[in-house]
Amino acid sequence: MSYLRPLRVLLLSTPVGAIGSGLGGGVELTLKSVARSLIQRGHSITVVAPEGSVLDGIPLIEIPGELQITAQTGGRDELITLPKNSVLGNMWDYARQVQHEYDLLFNFAYDWLPFYLTPFFERAIAHLVSMGSLSDAMDQIIGNVAERFPKTIGVHSLVQAETFQFASQCFNIKNGFDLSSYQFCAAPKNYLAWVGRIAPEKGLEDAVAAIQAVGVPLKIWGVIQDQNYWQKILADYPTAPIEYAGFLSTHELQQALGASRALLMTPHWVEAFGNVAIEALACGVPVIAYQRGGPAEIVRDGKTGWLVEPDRVDELVSAIAKIDQIDRTSCRHQAETEYSLEALSDRLETWFANILNSSQA
Ligand code: UDP
Repeated sequence: MSYLRPLRVLLLSTPVGAIGSGLGGGVELTLKSVARSLIQRGHSITVVAPEGSVLDGIPLIEIPGELQITAQTGGRDELITLPKNSVLGNMWDYARQVQHEYDLLFNFAYDWLPFYLTPFFERAIAHLVSMGSLSDAMDQIIGNVAERFPKTIGVHSLVQAETFQFASQCFNIKNGFDLSSYQFCAAPKNYLAWVGRIAPEKGLEDAVAAIQAVGVPLKIWGVIQDQNYWQKILADYPTAPIEYAGFLSTHELQQALGASRALLMTPHWVEAFGNVAIEALACGVPVIAYQRGGPAEIVRDGKTGWLVEPDRVDELVSAIAKIDQIDRTSCRHQAETEYSLEALSDRLETWFANILNSSQA
């Protein structure tokens, strides 16, 4: 059921990579889910994304320009930087020119510029913040928007919102997935899975250390974003039974991930959500995760996986020994009841109604 009149919404993707490259991390799949969930409700969607992006069946405007450097790498004092001929600048220049053809703009970029530009736009902008607090400059500019444009900041989890001073202003959209793309797998093979960008904040080395101790093979899927980090893991754990199996499409990933006994999630940062947790659950795969960030809000301890004390490899090892206590049908059931596209549409439409009502007030 739709709660809103049909809207024309312009979705502006992340400027750190083309959609389909994997460089955009979870934002790529999130954008596709948001687009599909809104289209299902009769809204009309156009996506603006860096040149080279691939999106099946959704109107796409590709914008040229240099990619943005990812935000996870700096510290609290990180300065705001833009390359020459910035794709981010070009995307928002395009949005400025066409804004009157839309009812609402939707920003997926965790970047300073779209927040700074918000007061200069005539159309309301919904900002989906995809990471927790990383730098003072970003906190300040997002906080300004939260104050001047109440209700326009969306997040993926409460624990992510709590990393910001303006937590109470945030609207939690969680996330949602096209669950028909994920097949339930009742009979797994004997391997564990780790899925994500291979970068220090994702903590892959802890999963590898646990695997070394238990001796069950670990398959790893995702873009290698930091080669030095990956090479160090290989050097530190030369005999661990791990296999890097590349970056897969959603269709291929769900098949391979679905056949695993469990997904390990070992982030060292406050993961805003963790799309891969829901992708695993949707296939019937239990999730063993650190009790930190989004996964701690997703996993039902003892029912759809195990939550362990963060940074404790020995606790990961104990949880791996208990995988078979989890009923794989409960995992699929949780994905269906909480993280369907329908559930996402309900949350998005409530959020949009809040934004549009306050922008007209
Ligand atoms: N992913 C993928 N193919 C792979 C490995 C990962 O498409 O081989 C996608 C996965 O579907 C998920 C994203 O990469 O949407 C990782 O997102 P997550 O929210 O888990 O972490 P982030 O990268 O945003 O920190």
